[in-house]
Amino acid sequence: MTNPYKQILVAIDCSEESTQVLGRAAALAERDGTHLHLIHVIEPLALAYGADVPMDVSDLQSSLVKQARDSAMEYARRYQVPESNVHVELGSIEKTIQENAEKLDCDLIVVGSHTRSGLAILLGSTAKGLVPGANCDVLAVKITDQ
Ligand code: AMP
Repeated sequence: MTNPYKQILVAIDCSEESTQVLGRAAALAERDGTHLHLIHVIEPLALAYGADVPMDVSDLQSSLVKQARDSAMEYARRYQVPESNVHVELGSIEKTIQENAEKLDCDLIVVGSHTRSGLAILLGSTAKGLVPGANCDVLAVKITDQ
């Protein structure tokens, strides 16, 4: 069967479960001519804690971005994703993933998905939030405890 996907964007939160998501995306990208991009999004501190954080957090923000890039690069190396295909971005998670998928002309977004129960069902998941605004297919990889 031919692989219908030519540009795949895999979203990782850089936790250990990222190997499950990346592993699935890498297997899909194994066919000739398919490019794998990796994205990790950092929510700006002002977004996470409100616009009026009572101090200058730009140094802290820069060091968080640097740490996140190092971590994303570590995962990228394990799955032979070239540095030019690693995207570490500041913004809201779902919107930034959707915008990058569009910019990179991706035909598939691969994202992890946790089984939810109780209150978490009401809060919703990243995968669920991604689908309505995405201009391409979205694959939700079930995360299993390992
Ligand atoms: P959830 O079920 O909402 O916890 O979503 C987990 C999945 O969403 C992760 O496996 C990633 O695919 C994606 N995700 C969560 N946070 C981020 C992030 N900061 N950057 C990129 N992808 C993320």
